[in-house]
Amino acid sequence: MAFDPRVDLDRIPTEPGVYLMKDAAGVIFYVGKAANLRARLRQYFGATSDTRFFVSLLDKLLDDVEVIITSTEKEALILENELIKRHQPRFNVELKDDKSFLHLRIDESAAWPRIDVVRRPRKDGARYFGPYHSASKIRETLRIVERHFQLRTCDDLSFKNRVRPCLQYQIKRCPGPCVLPVDVDDYRQNVQSVVSFLQGKRTELVEQLADKMRRAAEALEFERAARYRDQMRAVEGSLEPQQVVLGREIDQDVFGLHREGGWLEIAVLFVRRGRMVGSRTFGFDEQAIPDAEVLSTFCNLFYHGGNSVPDEVLLPVEPDAEVALVDRLSELKGRRVEVRAPQRGAGKRLVEMAARNAEQSFFQARRSDAVRNGALVALKKRLRLANLPNRIECYDISLFQGASPVASRVVFEGGVPMRSAYRHYRIREVEGTDDFAMMREVLTRRLKRGLAEEDLPDLIVVDGGKGQLGVALAVFEDLGIQGVDLVGLAKSRVLEGETDEGAAKRSPERVFVPGAKDPIPLRAHTDELFLMTRLRDEAHRFAITYHRKLRTGRNFESALDAVPGVGPTRKKALLQAFGSLKKLREASEAEIAAVPGIGERLARELAATLGR
Ligand code: SF4
Repeated sequence: MAFDPRVDLDRIPTEPGVYLMKDAAGVIFYVGKAANLRARLRQYFGATSDTRFFVSLLDKLLDDVEVIITSTEKEALILENELIKRHQPRFNVELKDDKSFLHLRIDESAAWPRIDVVRRPRKDGARYFGPYHSASKIRETLRIVERHFQLRTCDDLSFKNRVRPCLQYQIKRCPGPCVLPVDVDDYRQNVQSVVSFLQGKRTELVEQLADKMRRAAEALEFERAARYRDQMRAVEGSLEPQQVVLGREIDQDVFGLHREGGWLEIAVLFVRRGRMVGSRTFGFDEQAIPDAEVLSTFCNLFYHGGNSVPDEVLLPVEPDAEVALVDRLSELKGRRVEVRAPQRGAGKRLVEMAARNAEQSFFQARRSDAVRNGALVALKKRLRLANLPNRIECYDISLFQGASPVASRVVFEGGVPMRSAYRHYRIREVEGTDDFAMMREVLTRRLKRGLAEEDLPDLIVVDGGKGQLGVALAVFEDLGIQGVDLVGLAKSRVLEGETDEGAAKRSPERVFVPGAKDPIPLRAHTDELFLMTRLRDEAHRFAITYHRKLRTGRNFESALDAVPGVGPTRKKALLQAFGSLKKLREASEAEIAAVPGIGERLARELAATLGR
């Protein structure tokens, strides 16, 4: 049903539902939900309507409103979620799938539970822990669990098909329930300890382990006692002096808002068992929708997107459709969830803290934006470029120890590295180490493809002086490239004399541009110098890392040449298992023997040949 609420207000139904605001071209620019559609739209367009920025903006854009009636407010909430995802309206907060949230999962109903790392919790009866925001944090947690609590790490398929235990068993990180008779109660106790550990009940866990250790020692079970002692030490070592923010040991997510002009920043603080364990911030442009409505929609998307639902959600204001939101979150969690806008006490302080985080994040984001944009504008001006260099590609040919050429490309977008677009190029046509010819080959391949796919950068930087620039220019001319800027970035030169500190004097960094005889120097301490040196350092770092990888592989292979019976397949398996010659040398015979295709005899020979 479509209406113009400015004239048809009384015809709009009073039931719960969803409304879609459209402009004259029929494009949906806002989706909202309401317990009473007419009452909600009256707030916007009635005689005593709100005069906020958003409302006047609506008035200008709006052509008509489509309404969809639902039988309950909760249904409206679910439908709103779907419609926002489908239409991505300009004025709705839109949460892109956030791949950075990780959770740990333990399914205690499995015969031999293991820990999985997952993006999204599901309603499958398993326990989920998190969200974890840093990969290093999750690695550290897993390291402690694997090393001291000995849960299996293999997937269910390998578990079923094993005929002997894997390397984990050999290095005493798994009791090997896949094939060996393992005490189920013992394993279950370890699972329970891991659950307590992940729940953050670490002080209680230390006490339990100390008690178990005492009892095992009294029963003269010294090996078991030593295991509890090691577990206890590992847990004690992981106790961090975290900020205790509440006396209540429950899980809470605390939301704070900061607005500035049309910009909205939302911060979420994660409080787990009374301790703050992390935070996330989200920025939205062109957001002038009232706080209650934004929070309701945001929470709906946030938890629907897979974030684990805590016991309590604290908000700065009561959200729109509060009852429906509580129902929805409780349904997702599987038990009652509180949603509150605290007015006093510890809860209020937490919400204020979240707002300060949102404000801080806003200034941080603006500041780095301003610096980055400033650097791009300054670079355009300084190098007399035709385009604002939003996408910059830097090409580098590196020869290591006079051989092994590596061609690489790094990409910056908006002044920041875009690592997913980095590439190494295998040189196909050039024999020997002619780096001009290699630059020609790489640029020709890249630009030909760019022309075909209409995907060209704003600026190409070749690492090198006039010679490299000349080669690149010839490629541009051959292919008829237009609308892409090109420069050569040369290393600073060593000058005669010394600085006051006694170091060698160097010229400023120099950029060669087509058609100019002399390079343009980049002045010290400027944003444009910082950007260009970062680009070049990144290109060198990328090339060196690749070269190291190649060299490790080659050294690894040649060191194993001396061992009869180790051909390319076994070399590959060993490299995959240990990653470097050093790690292989440090490995025990049992660890080497556990690598597929090696076995005990070969492991002995390898250990002897590698001189351990
Ligand atoms: S020893 Fe067996 S159960 Fe343990 S991780 Fe290896 S395959 Fe899995």
